[in-house]
Amino acid sequence: MKKLIYLDNAATTRTSDEVVEAMLPYFGTYYGNPSSIYDFSAESKQAITDAREQIAQVLGAKKEEIYFTAGGSESDNWAVKATLEAYASKGNHIITTKIEHHAMLHTCEYLEKVRGAKITYLNVDENGLVSPEDVRRAITPETILISVMFANNEIGTIEPIREIGEIAHEKGILFHTDAVQAFGQVPINVDEMHIDMLSSSAHKINGPKGIGFLYIRKGVRIRSFIHGGAQERKRRAGTENVPGIVGYGVAARRAAETMEERAAKEIAVRDHMISRILNEIPYSRLNGDPVRRLPNNVNVSMEFIEGESMLLMLDSLGVCASSGSACTSGSLDPSHVLLAIGLPHEKAHGSLRMTLSQETTLEDADFVVDHLKEIVENLRAMSPLYEDFIKKNR
Ligand SMILES: *Cc1c(COP(=O)(O)O)cnc(C)c1O
Repeated sequence: MKKLIYLDNAATTRTSDEVVEAMLPYFGTYYGNPSSIYDFSAESKQAITDAREQIAQVLGAKKEEIYFTAGGSESDNWAVKATLEAYASKGNHIITTKIEHHAMLHTCEYLEKVRGAKITYLNVDENGLVSPEDVRRAITPETILISVMFANNEIGTIEPIREIGEIAHEKGILFHTDAVQAFGQVPINVDEMHIDMLSSSAHKINGPKGIGFLYIRKGVRIRSFIHGGAQERKRRAGTENVPGIVGYGVAARRAAETMEERAAKEIAVRDHMISRILNEIPYSRLNGDPVRRLPNNVNVSMEFIEGESMLLMLDSLGVCASSGSACTSGSLDPSHVLLAIGLPHEKAHGSLRMTLSQETTLEDADFVVDHLKEIVENLRAMSPLYEDFIKKNR
């Protein structure tokens, strides 16, 4: 089998061996329902408490403020839908951005259509940054929620969360952040950053799939999302995913412990890759902020070619990457994020996202860039757009 070079860690990550090992006893040995009162279930109940504690610590939160969900999408849905319900007497205006994940955008579009919510989708600058002053200007007496993602999943831009949180709290408005790409990758403190609600998902930080949490600050009046049993302080019913929760706790603790070292490693490989691409491939550009950027994100556009073609050719070499034109593969629309930073359709179509892990080596990076140069050259040789361009510019 050829070597797999997995550069799609923004889509999902490998569940680490340590996490799998920690989870295993909660399938076959301690399988008791945490809600049951006999002694056998105490182990499962305790395991949930421990994981909640581990996660709360990473955020500077209290463990009672962590509510387990089935993942990032559920947490985003919950935060927005339940806030709109609970604060209906105050207003129905929500401020968010054009570059949110679809879990947020499609939820907002649904609420506009079905519940008559008023949503402001803020523009971003050419690097994908939201301006805190734009947030301030968008606030109306009806605004009940500001939701801005912590870090963008496509271009890796890290938003000025603290500044936006300050404005929200100064105006007495709830502040939610989709931190699925940021939790465990960059330092977060919910108090210092004035965050009231925060979404996260285990499978983006070497935990298992299908488990996430919503942090809800104590005192926030938010409705239950799933009605039923009394789990999660009656706010999210359903028998807990005990193995998933255990795995999440371990993944969160590990991510926090190794954060600095991992970031340094990834940044070195990331910047090597970016500078080689920009220097060695003509008509290429970096998407996203060069500095305020997730340590593992490389997102580049190559003019005159299709991202999809690059992906297929990389795939044949055992390289897993992603393109901006089909984040939700199957759609041919260019990425809403790349359009929001002002890329014209042609450039957005030629984009490539490569998201590293701490296991990605400089050799992997060189292998990918060496082949990418060749791939781009070959595709351009077949591109009528490129031929026209060269003729015109000769
Ligand atoms: C992956 C992702 C989600 C969705 O998380 P799931 O656990 O897959 O539902 C939401 N927001 C962002 C920014 C993401 O990267």
